[in-house]
Amino acid sequence: MSKILAANFKTNHTRASTQEYVEKLDTSMGELGYLDDLYLFPPATALNNFNVKNSIHIGAQNAYPTIKGSFTGEIGVEQLEEFNVKTLLIGHSERRHILGETQEFIAKKYIWFIEKGFKIFYCIGEPLEVREAGDKAVRQYLVEQLEGIDTSYENLILAYEPVWAIGTGKTATAELIERTHSMIKEMVDKPLLYGGSVKPQNLAEILAVPGCDGALIGTASWDAESMISMLEIA
Ligand code: PEP
Repeated sequence: MSKILAANFKTNHTRASTQEYVEKLDTSMGELGYLDDLYLFPPATALNNFNVKNSIHIGAQNAYPTIKGSFTGEIGVEQLEEFNVKTLLIGHSERRHILGETQEFIAKKYIWFIEKGFKIFYCIGEPLEVREAGDKAVRQYLVEQLEGIDTSYENLILAYEPVWAIGTGKTATAELIERTHSMIKEMVDKPLLYGGSVKPQNLAEILAVPGCDGALIGTASWDAESMISMLEIA
């Protein structure tokens, strides 16, 4: 199976710099003959109908489960449809732990968007204290993060992102990724990405882990040249 790469811009890049980034990536994908799917999650203000020749798919980092309405600061399906966005990131640890999204709300959002046919990138991952408590505690934590999620949905891609490895420069070892991916795959048989300080220097090793179907990349994806070097590796 080909590997899936996804880039999460978080609160980085403007509309203009995203346009430039997409153009660079599109040109490089053509030159490299890179045929796999690449997913980009720019900030909401940079969503656009990009004119690309290669398989670059644009997703939203967040959206509210509504077509439109009175949800100050949020965006709904009407705003996504303007740019043909049909891919959504749900359950990212920053939304869970910084923005305070509960599992109940995340599950409600998930169910709502799968009914609208969105492709979902769904993130799960344990904080450090749970990892330190051992595999049994990790399993229980991940099970809770899947509560209310219809995992039979055909357009679901999972991402295992240990919280202690996100944006910290600490990457999980290949052994730990393999063990945890196999634990998750026993629960959900869907494509499973790894995320957490993935960068050009460790991508090859991570993609070689059995049961790893790709990578969700934050920090190291923000620079187009860095992302292009990861396309060369994938
Ligand atoms: C992420 O935000 O999904 C992520 C994996 O970030 P980073 O690569 O910076 O750890």
